[in-house]
Amino acid sequence: MSKETKWAICSTCDINCGLLVTVEDGKVKSIKKNPDHPLTPNSICVKGTNANKYITHPDRLTHALKRVGERGSGQWEQISTKQALDEIAEKMKQLIAEDGPETIGSTYGWSSNAGAASRRFMNLLGSPNWTWTGYVCLANSTVPSKATYGFWQFPDFHNTKCIVLLGHAPGPQRWTAEYLWIKDALDRGAKLIVTDPRRNSYSDQADIFLQIKPATDSAYLLAWINVIIEEELYDKEFVEKWTIGFEQLAERMKEYTPEWASEITGAPANKIRDSARMYATTGPAVIPWGAVPDHHANSTQTLRALTILRSITGNLDVPGGELLMGYHPEISSDDEFELNERLSPEQRKKQLGMDRFKLLSWETLEKTGPAMEKVWGKKYSNQVSGGAMAHPASMWEAMKTGKPYRLRALISQCNNTLNSYPNTTHIYEGLMNLDLLVVMDLIKSPTAQIADYILPATHWLERPNLFNYWDWIPVYQGGQQSVQAPEECLHDWMLWRELGVRLGQEKDWPASMEDAYDERLKPAGLTWEKLSTQERASAPEITFKKYQQTGFGTPSGKVELYSSIFEELGYDPLPSWIEPPESHVRKPELAKTHPLTFFTGMRENYWFHSFGLGRSTKELRSREPDPRMQIHPDTAYDLDLSDGDWAWVESTSGKRIKLRSWLSNDTHPNVVRVPHGWWYPETTGSDEPGAALSSLWKSADAVILHDSDEYCDKEQGNFQLRGLACKVYKVEDGTEGTSYAI
Ligand code: SF4
Repeated sequence: MSKETKWAICSTCDINCGLLVTVEDGKVKSIKKNPDHPLTPNSICVKGTNANKYITHPDRLTHALKRVGERGSGQWEQISTKQALDEIAEKMKQLIAEDGPETIGSTYGWSSNAGAASRRFMNLLGSPNWTWTGYVCLANSTVPSKATYGFWQFPDFHNTKCIVLLGHAPGPQRWTAEYLWIKDALDRGAKLIVTDPRRNSYSDQADIFLQIKPATDSAYLLAWINVIIEEELYDKEFVEKWTIGFEQLAERMKEYTPEWASEITGAPANKIRDSARMYATTGPAVIPWGAVPDHHANSTQTLRALTILRSITGNLDVPGGELLMGYHPEISSDDEFELNERLSPEQRKKQLGMDRFKLLSWETLEKTGPAMEKVWGKKYSNQVSGGAMAHPASMWEAMKTGKPYRLRALISQCNNTLNSYPNTTHIYEGLMNLDLLVVMDLIKSPTAQIADYILPATHWLERPNLFNYWDWIPVYQGGQQSVQAPEECLHDWMLWRELGVRLGQEKDWPASMEDAYDERLKPAGLTWEKLSTQERASAPEITFKKYQQTGFGTPSGKVELYSSIFEELGYDPLPSWIEPPESHVRKPELAKTHPLTFFTGMRENYWFHSFGLGRSTKELRSREPDPRMQIHPDTAYDLDLSDGDWAWVESTSGKRIKLRSWLSNDTHPNVVRVPHGWWYPETTGSDEPGAALSSLWKSADAVILHDSDEYCDKEQGNFQLRGLACKVYKVEDGTEGTSYAI
């Protein structure tokens, strides 16, 4: 019997824990935390320990499938992966010949390790219509930071004295490594400020907890800036020497008093004032990334307020503050691998959505290029792939209407597209109108069910992974392949190479992913073999205040409180309050028709986003059998809902989804929490009413979300997932049993 232990990287969520996988006779026996891991020691959650259940699940795709009936009819022919790739490439050639390369789009999701490879393929193809789920969170956080101080910050949890959590609640079963870092900091005595519409797992231990209305984050953040300036709590020396636009900022912030913010957020003015003081005077302080600010039609201004707070309090690039770490010198970056320079200026201009939402598009990547190159040596700095993305809703519209031109093909990799962006109906209408939809996944997701070709993917246990934190921090590690994938499953990275070779890109692709890794590791004098079996990881010593030698990576070389990039693009160069699209201030009439407010987009404990195999795995699904809507008991009482009752949540779109009531005093009486990404894999293929596309329309939050421009952030096109009006009512036919047979 052979037995070995592999150092693997879990890619189930964005933490990417380093884990120990014990393999016996080619099969996974256990997955455990790795106490010796240099980056994420002892970090693991139930999604990681159960990962082997995904690859051995009976629903796991092991062969390529070709649609033979009507789209979505569920009729498939099993073919070889090679044949599928050949046919897909031929179809793409035909579409490109007819409508140009921009008629091809692509999107991918978290569990893929091939984001840079997909962008390389698209750049070489000549299509600017590349996007990914980072458009909805994470990646859309980066550009406001780059515009303000030239890099995306990373919190120094190990030395900080104050942590601010904006609705962000890492726990033992979600974002585990970050949970452990925060726990250590709190054990050391760091202060904690928490803001959230509901009491979360940190509220009780917080020094200050602001219970706010959903989607009002920028109001209290602007008030914090007001207090910090008015009370002269800012770092005067830093502001004087290293920022521009402070006077304009101070003038703009005068109107945003804590009393003003209290009216909007519902949090007491004195608590807003006290939290501003605590943040400014208990430094070094950090405000870690969390998804909440990314989910609003005023996201960009919220994110700008955050960057300004970090800057004027002197927390940039100091121990215990917000590190601007730059690139690892020993590994070529993701954005270099993407070959962004190969996409021509003419093709860049065709990026869908760039006419309205410029900040996350090619136009901004070009504008930030010179300063990024000067300071960081990278012209096309796509940290966390956060730049030059096509706007998803504009892609669905181009598929559906042909405006401004037809998008005729989409390659969707490890991304349940129908359920990963807002407005499932819009996405569905677009995808159904495609000439070619290719889905690569581990399971027949709802999106796969309407594809022309389904390609069987590999799981992270089955592939090597050179992981460099998407150029966010200068760290890289080598995750070993633990077991062999089924023969016909295609490595995520190889999909792009294989298609590229068939479409004339052969000379631009390494022969294998390991060859590509060797090439990228050359500056380190390492091979992939040596990294993955001996060195494991590399993290150079952290240095601070690098800007004193290089300046900041902005056009002025300083922190741009007044952003020249924003001004050049025609956007407000200073942050301001923008009323959410469905607030009861903007639309008071909604108080009568849709009296409650809902928010969604939160991470769940047992699966990441819409990950189907998590919901198919008994060990996980038994912990959360149904999608639950958190609602206050008083509100539930008024609606005649008891704990466990099924209820409809209906948005102003007129669409509704069915969720189980979860009565909880932790939420505000006017606020309902809707879970993210639900579908029911167990109903796949069923003819029961409502079971189409694995009952996608029954409980998916995307069904009731909007994606029209009114609901998009005007700078980046970010979508409003929070603070939306709804009504809740009991399911007419009474309380249903569980929808899942455990
Ligand atoms: S937190 Fe859990 S799911 Fe995320 S990488 Fe770690 S083990 Fe995997």
